[in-house]
Amino acid sequence: MYFMSITIGLLGLLIGSFLNVVIYRVPRGESIVSPGSHCPACGHALSAWELFPVISFLTLKGQCRNCRSSISWRYPGVELLTGSLFFLTATFSLSTEIHPARLFLNLVFVAILIALSFIDLDTFRLPDVLTLPLLGIGVLGAFLIPGSPSGWNSVLSAMGAGGLFWIIALVYPQGMGLGDVKLVAALGAFLGFPSIFLAVFLGSFVGALIGIVLLFAGRKSFGQQIPFGPYLAIGAIFALLWGTRIMDWYWA
Ligand SMILES: [Zn+2]
Repeated sequence: MYFMSITIGLLGLLIGSFLNVVIYRVPRGESIVSPGSHCPACGHALSAWELFPVISFLTLKGQCRNCRSSISWRYPGVELLTGSLFFLTATFSLSTEIHPARLFLNLVFVAILIALSFIDLDTFRLPDVLTLPLLGIGVLGAFLIPGSPSGWNSVLSAMGAGGLFWIIALVYPQGMGLGDVKLVAALGAFLGFPSIFLAVFLGSFVGALIGIVLLFAGRKSFGQQIPFGPYLAIGAIFALLWGTRIMDWYWA
């Protein structure tokens, strides 16, 4: 029964390796296909086995084979995160009567959210080249693939959630950027009503919690910019995986 989920989880490790490239290159405006991956310190071109997720990091002991400069823990971290979330997404999606195309779409959703989260942490930006396609395939998928949310639910949730955040961004531009508005619209398109509420609520809750912890740890001060994208992504993935269960439990 878990064969399919484990296969998808292993695929997630490879996708995570590609997401590392996306996270590094998209904010720099570089192509994500060419040239091939290379060491940022010495330019050494990485061979296929040096790109192999997690295993290569361990065999290389976290160093570039050519110049010995250390490789960030974040690379295998992103790979493991993607693998784990792909496994969970497959497991929870397959426990329902999901259309295979919708499972695929859920995996694309999770992958783009991981990339956006790390780009937001690095640059405080959520690039249009990722948020707008996310919105587009969310709406398109809802119309074309049977299941939840329906097409119109998707459109209305995108407009409702995006519109609400847009007003917040107009009133409070220091705290909320247009990137957040587009991301929330995309989350609305993917999750539909009422799951989008859960996603935003959980995201804000986790964000506030981590904000308070960082404040007390002296790592952040009041008024300092905090990226909202990663928290929204956490809320959205929770809502995607457990949304209906949490809602059922709440209404009961
Ligand atoms: Zn190197």
